[in-house]
Amino acid sequence: MAKRPTLILDHEALRYNMRTVVAWCGEAGIDVAGVIKVTTGMASVALDYESCGAKWVASSRLEQLARAKEAGVKVPLLMIRVPMISELDEMVRICDYSLESGLDTLISLDQAAKKAGRTHNVILMADLGDLREGLIEKPELVELAKYVEDKLDSLHLAGIGTNLGCVGSVMPTEEKMLMLSEWAEAVEDAIGRPLEVVSGGATSSLMPLFDKVMPPKVNMLRIGAIVYCGPYEDLRTCYGRKEADELRGDVFTLEAEVVEVSTKPTHPIGQLGVNAFGEKATYVDRGERKRAILAIGRADYGDLGDMIPLLEGLEITMASGDHTILDIEDCREDIRVGDVVRFALKYSAILRLTASENVTIEEKNI
Ligand SMILES: *Cc1c(COP(=O)(O)O)cnc(C)c1O
Repeated sequence: MAKRPTLILDHEALRYNMRTVVAWCGEAGIDVAGVIKVTTGMASVALDYESCGAKWVASSRLEQLARAKEAGVKVPLLMIRVPMISELDEMVRICDYSLESGLDTLISLDQAAKKAGRTHNVILMADLGDLREGLIEKPELVELAKYVEDKLDSLHLAGIGTNLGCVGSVMPTEEKMLMLSEWAEAVEDAIGRPLEVVSGGATSSLMPLFDKVMPPKVNMLRIGAIVYCGPYEDLRTCYGRKEADELRGDVFTLEAEVVEVSTKPTHPIGQLGVNAFGEKATYVDRGERKRAILAIGRADYGDLGDMIPLLEGLEITMASGDHTILDIEDCREDIRVGDVVRFALKYSAILRLTASENVTIEEKNI
């Protein structure tokens, strides 16, 4: 028996989702960069993405891309967090593409590529309002593109891209995608040749694709979340997009073990201050109810809301770093100490659980 808690990864479900998303994008002339950072960069996931048709494997962490390379991934590797100057030498050895946003880094990157005897491909980022990385004015982006094209011999300007729906929650509307296309055209006019890549964003940019309003110029999306979460992704849970229901929600399943079953009051007894995380919590008095404690906690998965119980009638009520309290009063199944309780997972829970040393990862159908 695998050591618990156990995070089960079903590769068959994962590949089904990857193939489906690659096909959706393919119909619109879009290639997928398969983003693996959500899984803390599991090499087996990178290999799945490649076999399902991703044209790049992408991550925000170099060590994860190094692992993918080590595991034999052949498609080009794409670094999607603007690199630190201190990691440029390493980056040009590990990957062929990166997202970039500033002159100083580009000049150093050109030197690093020259030193390594390589040509490194760059995608310049346009900030269309989400306020993360990138240039916020079109003329600045065009000027930087021209500089890379004319002055930095060891860099190849592969294209431009943008990121939306992230720190600023800005929606990837048709208007934003048209803006990206227009900026790409402005760069092409300035350098006198077409760009190979116009990278329209992440999972959230599937919305304009579903609505058939994606401009033809956009030809790359960098997709992570939805292939791992399926119907538990924001696209479904926040935006109600039914397309996500076509994907499997059982790629990752968490199994945690019950360590106590008891019947207790639902309202704490005594003068209330703050909980283990310094939060002033509120408690609803529902009288005495049957409950169970799981040997897993917020240190492993983060927020309660990112775990979806797979047993009907079961409710997560509270948690500390290492304990999760379940209300099992309305649960039809008899739950006892030593039993396992299973959960589907949202994005942040997968991100944390794959990185937790308390959690054993079990891979099925690899
Ligand atoms: C994380 C990330 C992605 C992938 O986002 P998902 O929502 O997981 O699809 C794409 N691009 C960049 C720059 C990222 O940082």
